[in-house]
Amino acid sequence: MITTKDKIKILLINPWITDFAAYNLWSEPLGLLYIGAILRESGASVYLLDCILSRKKPPPKLLDDGRSKFERRIIEKPEPLKFVNRKYAIYGISEEEAINYLELIPKPDVILITSGMTYWYPGVFRAIKLVKKYYSSTVPVILGGIYAKLCYSHATTFSEADLVYISDNISELLRKIEGITGKNFKEIKKYRSFNDYPIPLHQLGGKRKFIAVLTSKGCPFRCTYCASYLLNPKHEKRKISPIIEEIKRHAAEASKPNVAFYDDALLVNSDNHLIPILEKIIEIGRIGIHLPNGIHASLITPNIARLFREAGVKYIRLGLETAIPEIQIKTGKKVENTEFIRAVDYLRGVGYKPGEIGCYILAGLPGQSPGDVEKTITFVRKVGASPYIALFSPIPNTPSWEETKKLTDLDIDREPLFHNNTIFTLRNPAFGEKAVKELKNMALEIRRELNSNS
Ligand code: SF4
Repeated sequence: MITTKDKIKILLINPWITDFAAYNLWSEPLGLLYIGAILRESGASVYLLDCILSRKKPPPKLLDDGRSKFERRIIEKPEPLKFVNRKYAIYGISEEEAINYLELIPKPDVILITSGMTYWYPGVFRAIKLVKKYYSSTVPVILGGIYAKLCYSHATTFSEADLVYISDNISELLRKIEGITGKNFKEIKKYRSFNDYPIPLHQLGGKRKFIAVLTSKGCPFRCTYCASYLLNPKHEKRKISPIIEEIKRHAAEASKPNVAFYDDALLVNSDNHLIPILEKIIEIGRIGIHLPNGIHASLITPNIARLFREAGVKYIRLGLETAIPEIQIKTGKKVENTEFIRAVDYLRGVGYKPGEIGCYILAGLPGQSPGDVEKTITFVRKVGASPYIALFSPIPNTPSWEETKKLTDLDIDREPLFHNNTIFTLRNPAFGEKAVKELKNMALEIRRELNSNS
């Protein structure tokens, strides 16, 4: 029998973000929270150091629906970014608060740290350095997550993690942890698919106004600029009952519950998946639902639009990216303009106003001009939705990668900091600072006008 003393103690770390800008759009380290649940059901003691959101105080400018700014401190730019005429910051709690947390928990046997955007790696390295120093390098550190997966060689060379683990084989990870710590889990189940995962441990980060939820992993589309299939090669749906259980638990704890769906392909096969989920959410009632991750306009039906309205879907983002047909075809045909017009019609038909229907537009794609973006903004306005500019960020090993390299003098192969969407589009000769500013202002003016009319 494994006693409390023998239990493997595992510290999970959600590291700092380092960037020119960052905003909390219902941000949770979901991958870590799933791993936390798996580790706990395997018999480990699990702790979470969340470097992003404090347990002690609410984040700045916290809205009722859970969105907020992050705490931030301006820091010196890393050498490769010195040429950028913008402030660079670290987002999240202070190092002092992080150390205070480490003082409260028992010394872990192993530390698992995740990573997000490739160009946020300085925040990851900082967190690794901090725990290495605090524990005098006596606790092994395993690095995983998106940056580790997409920039494996960079991560193994520079991160100072003892192991960079990028496989989806969770049972294998647990066996590695046993090998590293010399301790055993109570049991190691076989986690063959997403459906074998337990409900993520949202409570690990303390009480929040919201939870981020995944009802599926991956995406059956293959947009040339997107890493979805690299990160999750299979499109897998979770069973409905644990999703509802996850939402119900949050609804029971929060006075004003908010759920943000972060699926890449939320609307795929919706008859058997999202529709029954929305019907259950309507039964539960009083939940704010948010769709920040760009849903597929081509898959919206009148029934889905109605259920969105009834379920309390408040924050909608449609993923259009461009209204230029040649670019739509070249980048993967995820949506056509007629489908977008139809989707907006359905949403307007159930009462959503143009100011409530947000639409992502990509700026800086290879082969795209500022004029293409301007036409797309005008198209979105005319159809009756609100344009939001998202700057293109090159992602290693996507089909756009090689074409992207020809566009820039930045060495994006060697330096992930250059994947940063802010600087990449500014350095794209077709765009530049002035064009980006004008396009953002144009979109902002339209949103202001639509909001003042609603
Ligand atoms: S539809 Fe969205 S998630 Fe799927 S590949 Fe395209 S951009 Fe990625």
